[in-house]
Amino acid sequence: MPRPRIPVSHTLASLTALCTEEGDCLIWPSIGPQRKKITRPTVFHGGVRQSVRRLFAALRGDPQALAEQARLAEPGYWAATCGDPHCMAAAHTERRTRAQHMDNARTRANSGATNLIRIAKIAKSQRERRGKLTEAQIAAICNSPLGIEKEAQVHGVSPALIARLRRRNPAKAAGTVWAGLGRRAQA
Ligand SMILES: [Zn+2]
Repeated sequence: MPRPRIPVSHTLASLTALCTEEGDCLIWPSIGPQRKKITRPTVFHGGVRQSVRRLFAALRGDPQALAEQARLAEPGYWAATCGDPHCMAAAHTERRTRAQHMDNARTRANSGATNLIRIAKIAKSQRERRGKLTEAQIAAICNSPLGIEKEAQVHGVSPALIARLRRRNPAKAAGTVWAGLGRRAQA
């Protein structure tokens, strides 16, 4: 006999409790390599799988998020402005229309700027949190050819932290690819 499905309903407190504070960021958990792939974390709430970031906005009382949840408004793109797709911090949440979303993705791909901001930001929050890694060390970690375990030993931090820092770097690769295409197109 199938087990009856219990609809899980979250409160702002229960949802926040699942996250980890990293500096100014509020990081939604995810397991292993999934974190690399999932750019829009979802969760069951009231029997419906939905965007965690929009649910956070709704639970914080955002009228637009509440309207979308009630299907009274066209769903928007709820994005993290800090560059970490798993960040749920209110201050790092932005609702974008589809056009804004596409525009933003293009801008991000065409400049390495966001990535530099992100690296600086990670460095800042890491310093605040543990006082262990400098900006330069984080940049080195992201560019190092060493394996995760080795790198963790070198810096005296957990392999999980190294893995996380490296996974936070996708815009850099995108920037390189698009910059390359741009150059070819101009040639
Ligand atoms: Zn953030």
